[in-house]
Amino acid sequence: MEVTLRREQETKEEMQVIRHSEQALKTALISKNGQLIKLYEKLSQGERRLLNEAFRPDSVLFQPISVHSESDWIPSHPEPTQDFEQFYQNPYRSTPSAKRSIIYVQPIGSFGDSRVTAEDYLHWLKSYCEAFYYGLAVKILQPIPVSSTSCAFRVNEHTHNLQIHAEDLLKFLKQMKPKDAFCIVGLTMIDLYPKESWNFVFGQASLTEGMGIFSFARYDSDFYSRNYKGRLKPGKKLTAGDYSVFDGYYTPPVTSTLLLRSCKTLTHELGHIFGLRHCQWLQCVMQGSNHLEESDRRPPELCPICLRKLHCALGFNIAERYKALLHWIDGGGCGVEDPGCSHKTRHSPKAVEDFKEHRGWILKCLDLLQQ
Ligand SMILES: [Zn+2]
Ligand SMILES: [Zn+2]
Repeated sequence: MEVTLRREQETKEEMQVIRHSEQALKTALISKNGQLIKLYEKLSQGERRLLNEAFRPDSVLFQPISVHSESDWIPSHPEPTQDFEQFYQNPYRSTPSAKRSIIYVQPIGSFGDSRVTAEDYLHWLKSYCEAFYYGLAVKILQPIPVSSTSCAFRVNEHTHNLQIHAEDLLKFLKQMKPKDAFCIVGLTMIDLYPKESWNFVFGQASLTEGMGIFSFARYDSDFYSRNYKGRLKPGKKLTAGDYSVFDGYYTPPVTSTLLLRSCKTLTHELGHIFGLRHCQWLQCVMQGSNHLEESDRRPPELCPICLRKLHCALGFNIAERYKALLHWIDGGGCGVEDPGCSHKTRHSPKAVEDFKEHRGWILKCLDLLQQ
């Protein structure tokens, strides 16, 4: 795999741009395998026009990945790349079937704040995932308190914030997984740790069992501050099995930034369950991320190579999928009004300000698809 790491002077900072050759990107997308080339040719002209942007050197839609520091994902976690053919040929990859097609989301602990209810926030996440994984249904299970999972917990010695044990939560989710589930993912606003010796983990998944657990705690801008309210309350003692420390646990305000971050994390992590590895081709939601600044830098969407992988797993119409995402940003899928929604209560307006740039990008993709 030839990769050119070129130093480029952009604005004031020096960063490395990972620029693959046109041929390398074309092969990653289409492959050199006759069967896969034929499969590619079956796509509509508009779909191929959009996907081919992957290797158009002057594309305004898809940019090369830039590495800003040694602590970014790519320099700190060297991994093999995954092109379309490697994804397609992977015998262990799981794909939804007619009998197992539902993505279940299990909220653990409290969500939402006074302005936005947990119900609204979780519903926005659900409808976003349904647009992103177009054609699949996402079901939110009844939120459960931490005590129901019987998981271990602790106070982190660096942040002094409460944490819950990720592996215990995976064991719990395994028992909860419905028969018709393609996968089940647990979501929580409480920080996670995978084992005693580890500081923390953003999430953990078992790909073969179609399970994952993810925390959005570190996406709160207050997380690292001494005033973070997710600390053990003064006067409270930590006793194994006494889950009352989580009663009235702090949940961050559901801002547009938190919504964008959580939509990106959830779709990224679900992408792994579909067999997509970290993307090293172009800027993409499937890029690995080592810290918050890097997660914020990655776009909410898939590059053409990852889009072809997902398209192959789900078989959607690419334009219809973009229209569904646009509809979501424009207030559909439970914004202020949604005739299709069965909620009886009034909804908070969906916090979509941070999705505006993304909206413009989707419109450009749709233009290209429908020329
Ligand atoms: Zn990842
Ligand atoms: Zn990608």
